[in-house]
Amino acid sequence: MSERAEVDGPRLLRSLAAFAAIGATPAGGVNRQALSPGDRLARRLLAERALSRGFAVFQDAAANLFLRRAGADDTLPAVLIGSHLDSQPTGGRFDGALGTLSAFEVLEALEDAGVSTVRPVEVVAFTNEEGSRYAPGCMGSMAFAGLHPISEWQAAMAPDGERLEHELAATLGALPEATMRHARPDIFAFVELHIEQGPVLERENVPIGVVTAIQGTKWLEVTFTGEAAHAGTTPREFRKDAMAAAAHAIAALQATVMAEDPQARLTVGRLSLEPGSVNVIPRQVTFTIDLRHPDGIALADLEALVRTTCAIAGEQWGCTTAIRPLLDMAPGTFEPALISAIETACRSRGIACRQMTSGAFHDALFVNRIAPSAMIFIPCRDGISHNEAEFVEDRHVLLGAATLLDLTLDLANRTDALAGR
Ligand SMILES: [Zn+2]
Repeated sequence: MSERAEVDGPRLLRSLAAFAAIGATPAGGVNRQALSPGDRLARRLLAERALSRGFAVFQDAAANLFLRRAGADDTLPAVLIGSHLDSQPTGGRFDGALGTLSAFEVLEALEDAGVSTVRPVEVVAFTNEEGSRYAPGCMGSMAFAGLHPISEWQAAMAPDGERLEHELAATLGALPEATMRHARPDIFAFVELHIEQGPVLERENVPIGVVTAIQGTKWLEVTFTGEAAHAGTTPREFRKDAMAAAAHAIAALQATVMAEDPQARLTVGRLSLEPGSVNVIPRQVTFTIDLRHPDGIALADLEALVRTTCAIAGEQWGCTTAIRPLLDMAPGTFEPALISAIETACRSRGIACRQMTSGAFHDALFVNRIAPSAMIFIPCRDGISHNEAEFVEDRHVLLGAATLLDLTLDLANRTDALAGR
């Protein structure tokens, strides 16, 4: 006999606490970076729990971990739910873990209630979403989506001196119970529950964000090269001052980009100069620009604006200007049929929700390339994330998990294709 499946709240909260203990930092955060021994422990704990509930455990060449509950028609493409288990070096307890452990709670809730679904349901923990130990982030989901084979990153080196190739092999080897998957299974849909990592939901007191799109990101590295000269003896007209050019360019961009377009984001997060002496005009300044926008054309326009502004600043200060792209991630628009399914799930439980775009990128951005995808956000305190102080209220965890459960049940019992695909 089957009953209505419900999230076991205390179990989910215990589960979050148990995983937060793996790599726990003294300040109450988590340091569980990708492919580290801590990451391996977390994967083992999740796999053991899955096996004890009778779910099948798989991993692929990128060490993405899958936990599968069979469907009544197990040949149908699965509903995929989950997120990641790795963290930033001074990360929080919820970024990634929330989505992965809530997804596992969904599987357990279905199992507890004896509810059978037409389609199989799989939980995924994608490898290296954060990109802090090995750049870039979202390696696992990019490999899963067929955008980059994981082998392309084998030579990547962690700050601690470990090569990715070695750590990946150790991670795969640490879970011999998992069946190796050599081909990607067909996916009916992917849904990722995540903390917002921004202040909007908390400020508006709305517990669920329905993510319609993830904004695009471009990273540029700007280098101004002038000439080192004496600070005291060199008049303005003889100066080739790379720092003055950089200051000019950064000030101009900060004064215009976000002021003129509230959806645009511009951040200069890293700057270095040489020779770096009090009384020497800097010869060379290098800085990064992180540009984001939900619209691909607007993002391209922003890059063009950066290039023009920097060229003008370089010219004014007698410097050459070089701009090197470091990252180019197109925006992603999520599946409208999934967006309305999330809204329906919220409505049927009387949970308030609002549509929003995601300022951060996530694994769902890449899975969206191969299967209809969407994301559910819940609020986090003061919008703080990638920080040991990251905090989520229990009631929001439970509302997020309940929404994910209802949505999963809806999707896993659909036999027709999602509209628009
Ligand atoms: Zn995350």
